[in-house]
Amino acid sequence: MSLSILVKSGIIVTQNWKREVFKGDVLIEGDRISGVGHVKARPDEIIDASGCVVMPGLINCHTHVSMALMRSVADDVKLEQFLDKTFALDSKRTPEDVGIGAALGCLEMARSGTTTLLDFYYSEDVIAKAVEKIGLRGYLGWTVLDEKFTTQKGKPINNCENFIKAHKNRPLIKPIISVQGVYVCSDETFMQARALAKKENTFCQYHLSETRYEVYEHAKKTGKRPVEHLADIGFLAKGDVAAHGVWITINEVRELAKAGVSVAHCPTSNMKLASGGVAPVPEMHAEGVGVCLGTDGCSSNNSLDMFLEMKFASLLHKAHRWDATVLSAQKVLDMATVDAAKAIGAEKDLGSIEVGKKADIVIIDAKKAAMVPTRPDNAIANLVYASPSQAVRDTMVDGKLVLRNGKIVTIDEAEVVAAAENAAQGLLDKSR
Ligand SMILES: [Zn+2]
Repeated sequence: MSLSILVKSGIIVTQNWKREVFKGDVLIEGDRISGVGHVKARPDEIIDASGCVVMPGLINCHTHVSMALMRSVADDVKLEQFLDKTFALDSKRTPEDVGIGAALGCLEMARSGTTTLLDFYYSEDVIAKAVEKIGLRGYLGWTVLDEKFTTQKGKPINNCENFIKAHKNRPLIKPIISVQGVYVCSDETFMQARALAKKENTFCQYHLSETRYEVYEHAKKTGKRPVEHLADIGFLAKGDVAAHGVWITINEVRELAKAGVSVAHCPTSNMKLASGGVAPVPEMHAEGVGVCLGTDGCSSNNSLDMFLEMKFASLLHKAHRWDATVLSAQKVLDMATVDAAKAIGAEKDLGSIEVGKKADIVIIDAKKAAMVPTRPDNAIANLVYASPSQAVRDTMVDGKLVLRNGKIVTIDEAEVVAAAENAAQGLLDKSR
């Protein structure tokens, strides 16, 4: 028998098609939402949400979660030094380090209202264990690249296929394919990834046009910009998620729209690494490209906080366009919830608080100073522009609480933190 839980008397930010916000209740039965509004029920359990905002869990559409272990290892340096430093550390990592880093990253996500992540890494089998243990929802993509560029044992495409086969039909894990990018992937590698996606009924995510260097080097080699090139070889496909998309022209924006590829915008990572330029998100919206948000990894961000990502996304485009009306609070919240759900093909299950959807829900204590005053009419602005992550009280995924009254209930948080500190120190010692 499945448990029923009534989340009572909160300000509910539904993210339904009318974008309604009202005071009311949410009924959860098993892993799904079965009532929203003024619900009369005799649940097994009541969670009092008075004085709280109840919202859909946030979806982080681009991250390398286990790099949480490499937080703040290479800051305020040029991209080449950043890459040297992070690659040097990365090459020393054991699968155990990857698992500990993933657990640390998942803790941070649960504490900052993220319920679903799209992860991009190798050793995703180890990451899947950490994600399942804490109880988040993971779309996990094993990285595929040309054999000559990798430190993976065996062929990356085979490793990816094995990972997919071993992780199908799990409630919280959806195996996907990560293609590193044009700078380390031949056309053949791209098309092998596409064939695998078709065969396994999944989708591809890839880094795309992140830096000017990447775009111009590719154009020098092939005569085409990366998006044009990937369109020409027949790689782009509906349902894919391309991360970054900073250096793309309006024609490339249209190409992505035509192909049905969404873009995971990563404003913090792009600003911090000084990728230069700003992803043309208003044009993507105007041309019908789905845009979601990602934090990227902890060595370039250095946070996995999606509330911060929403704020920076909005502010970056306002500052860049000299226009306070672009990327409104409502729109960036959409990008982290309903638009993200659509980008990953999960719009029937995720992204909003509506009857029939999965119970991925976050409750924020709106009596914390940083959130006062919160009313239905300003709740969305507070979620985006104030500091909600310090007020996240409960995080529920698939009908089960991961964070309850500010305490992680699925794993021993202190144990993970201690292990992460040790592993991070071990990595620094090894790389000296
Ligand atoms: Zn990335």
